[in-house]
Amino acid sequence: MMEHRLSLSQIVEGSPVASFVIDCNHIVTHWNTACELITGKKAFEMIGTKRQWEAFYPVERPVLADLMLDDALKQNVDILYKGKVQVTNNICDVFEAEDFFSQYGEHGRWIYFTATPIRDACGKIVGAMETLQDVSLRHEVEEALQASKAFLAQIVDGSSVATFVIDRNHTVTHWNRACEALTGLAAKDVIGTQQQWRAFYPSERPVMADLILNGAMADDVDQFYHGKFRSSRLIDGVFEAEDFFAHFGAEGKWVFFTAAPLRDLDGKVVGAIETLQDMNERRLAEEALKASEARYRDLSITDGMTGLFNSRHFYESIDKELERARRYGRSLSLLLMDVDNFKKVNDLYGHLEGDKVLQSLALVIRDCLRDMDSAYRYGGEEFIVILPETRSVDAINVAERLRQRFADQIQRPSAELAIHCTISIGVSQFVVGDDAQSLVKRADEGTYQAKHQGKNCVVWVEHKGI
Ligand code: GH3
Ligand code: MG
Ligand code: MG
Repeated sequence: MMEHRLSLSQIVEGSPVASFVIDCNHIVTHWNTACELITGKKAFEMIGTKRQWEAFYPVERPVLADLMLDDALKQNVDILYKGKVQVTNNICDVFEAEDFFSQYGEHGRWIYFTATPIRDACGKIVGAMETLQDVSLRHEVEEALQASKAFLAQIVDGSSVATFVIDRNHTVTHWNRACEALTGLAAKDVIGTQQQWRAFYPSERPVMADLILNGAMADDVDQFYHGKFRSSRLIDGVFEAEDFFAHFGAEGKWVFFTAAPLRDLDGKVVGAIETLQDMNERRLAEEALKASEARYRDLSITDGMTGLFNSRHFYESIDKELERARRYGRSLSLLLMDVDNFKKVNDLYGHLEGDKVLQSLALVIRDCLRDMDSAYRYGGEEFIVILPETRSVDAINVAERLRQRFADQIQRPSAELAIHCTISIGVSQFVVGDDAQSLVKRADEGTYQAKHQGKNCVVWVEHKGI
């Protein structure tokens, strides 16, 4: 049987891995084509010489393969390779290292190289083989990854929006400064843990980002954020919510938070990012605006001196009431009152005392009315009251009670003075065909007649018909 053994030459030459061999005298015996390609040094330049260093270094020094042949050199491996060499396998004595060679290619190359001793049948070292592999691409990818990680960290950290990121294991990877400031939880205490809930809740539970990572659908989110969340109108799979966190800041804060999945190139969810926005200022501004709007509205319909509604508001209200009365066939009455001999009050006691009389009349009116009734200062010392759901007979009773109550009151501007004042009241009731003007006109006629009847009385003016 013919035994065919491959020669070392065949193995080295045939190898797609850049390889060279030196003998025990450090002389190059093999230098394969792949090695020519990487180093740019031709086999014929190298074989038979000790110039293997020229392929790697500008000055003569041992290469990794040389170390295999010389125990003294091996001791100096750390000096020669600055700690870059690893002894992978103590038994086989394999050295491996990775280094950058700026002279290779256009921008230099990262080379992974190994050296192994070659032994004879007795185990004596008779040479060494070194292999070189271009690992620049892996380095580039790693560097790009590092750069993009650093870049991402900067983006997250530099953002003024409080942001944190969790990975596929729900472990916090980023927790930016704004997030520290808002939640009061330091990045160093939460990064690397799964305790993101601590920033928000007293006991362990998923936060929005955790739910997103678990592929939560609206139903799952609802379980934890009942009635407070919605799907983002901008991005699919993103949820947003607004909630109050009593322990944020001195008085608690309203926070708007949104969580989105982070996906790899295949679209698989590999993490989640959550942002938090302090809504306090906006909320406070909104509340202040609402309050001032309400105040403005109150002011715009209120008579400053008496606190009753003003005449402008009377016309808004009466139109609504008339509409209701017409549409549903409800009754509606009006009282129009005028202070008797008020000129005299002013003349005798002064305008300021006159004002006080009007203010106390306003109190009496308020006191006599039901919730659904409303009172307006119609003119200087004239007042109107709208009585919905009221027929004239009941309106006359209200008017009479009012007149009586006011007449019974004695105003005392000072200990010696006693002002006795009365009012005359006209009453009208809505009939089909009435508008605000006609209804007021009949009440006004009532007041006029009351004055003629000697004042301090109530007169109902019935609709005459056409
Ligand atoms: P009559 O019984 O016929 O109503 O007599 P009167 O004196 O009340 O006469 P009239 O209604 O014509 O006059 C109203 C007076 O009320 C005139 C005005 O000086 C006074 N007056 C109107 N508005 C105010 C006010 O806001 N404060 C005060 N103190 N007086 C007012
Ligand atoms: Mg008057
Ligand atoms: Mg008057």
